[in-house]
Amino acid sequence: MNDSEFASLAVEIKHQIEPVIKRIEENVLRNQAKVLAAFQEAKVSDYHFSSSTGYGYNDRGREIIEQVYATTFRAEAALVRPHIVSGTHAICLGLFGVLRPEDELLYITGAPYDTLEEVIGVRGNAGDGSLRDFGVTFHSVPLRNNKIDWDEIRRRIHSKTKMVGIQRSSGYAWRPSFTVAEIRQMVRFVKEIKPDVIVMVDNCYGEFTETEEPTEAGADLVVGSLIKNPGGGLAPTGGYLVGRSEIIHRAACRLTAPGIGAEQGAMLGTNRGILQGFFLAPHVVGEALKGAVYASAMFERVGLETSPRWEESRTDIIQAVRLGSKERLIAFCQAIQSAAPVDSHVKPEPWDMPGYEDPVIMAAGAFVQGASIELSADGPIRDPYIGFMQGGITYEHVQLAILSALETMKERKLL
Ligand SMILES: *Cc1c(COP(=O)(O)O)cnc(C)c1O
Repeated sequence: MNDSEFASLAVEIKHQIEPVIKRIEENVLRNQAKVLAAFQEAKVSDYHFSSSTGYGYNDRGREIIEQVYATTFRAEAALVRPHIVSGTHAICLGLFGVLRPEDELLYITGAPYDTLEEVIGVRGNAGDGSLRDFGVTFHSVPLRNNKIDWDEIRRRIHSKTKMVGIQRSSGYAWRPSFTVAEIRQMVRFVKEIKPDVIVMVDNCYGEFTETEEPTEAGADLVVGSLIKNPGGGLAPTGGYLVGRSEIIHRAACRLTAPGIGAEQGAMLGTNRGILQGFFLAPHVVGEALKGAVYASAMFERVGLETSPRWEESRTDIIQAVRLGSKERLIAFCQAIQSAAPVDSHVKPEPWDMPGYEDPVIMAAGAFVQGASIELSADGPIRDPYIGFMQGGITYEHVQLAILSALETMKERKLL
């Protein structure tokens, strides 16, 4: 690292970002205290780490995991399972748990995450069992200048509006994500118009980036993936839902079957990883955030535009950088890949991914397949060639990867 030609720049940048790093560490400390208290309150013990087989009745470890999640998120109940295959599946359970024929789902933060289009039925095969197949209607209120369109939301809420969806993270868009304070405002606003509306927050990438979660801001249901923030890099798979008991029960009935709900589900040896990962999650999210701030500052210094800027406050772990050319985007992703602990010898190339308009390039060298709490980078091959990076289990790894990215660009005469 010291022989990197960017080594002295790195020293300078680390000095520059010190106040931001300190703020992150203060948040980590508060979130660590919150999680630790939840573990202690639940009296987590060694025997909770072993888990059941078969039906999985009375799996005390599973029950403890859900209690720890519920306490941490200040929610009545939680459903945290390895049987939830991804974030999309977790959101799907929330939607199908709540919505019934003739109900309407209203997204107020613009179009939802790509993978939800097939769940909702705006894309995909009729007959696959989307919300649309079941007679649930959908509408999303586009953002106006990247802001919530309050007037349009007011116009759009009617007697059939059962559920309101909020996406905390901008996902892969060049705009700020929504803070918990902003989510609180949204919840108040829609509940003033229709008090019985159920508010769901897609919390993917947001957990532990602030000291409050959307459940504390009045959301009825909050959902995410265990191979992102709350898994702390150790959960091998899974998803979570936290919120009001009645809603969690309905989502559990959707995951298993009515009459079974949350009572069954063998954990197959995942309890310890899920618990230890959740304990580590505040710290690991802090590492990813520090890495993102460092990356943002380094890229800005070499003249590239970033979102968020290094000094801006954050509510998710995604860092975007406008690379400006196809060659730079490819160099960026290939360098991140070559700096990975796993599959560093693999060279990613752009490819036509199903569901995407343009070819996409992706770098991921993770211990858990597809885990984006581990350092990963990607971007669509399209002007203005924005590279997205997220995760990083250790701040040090992110620093090495960013140095590698800058060196690769320099070698290829792209800087
Ligand atoms: C990751 C993510 C999801 C779910 O994606 P999966 O790949 O299915 O886990 C949903 N919404 C947002 C904003 C995400 O970042």
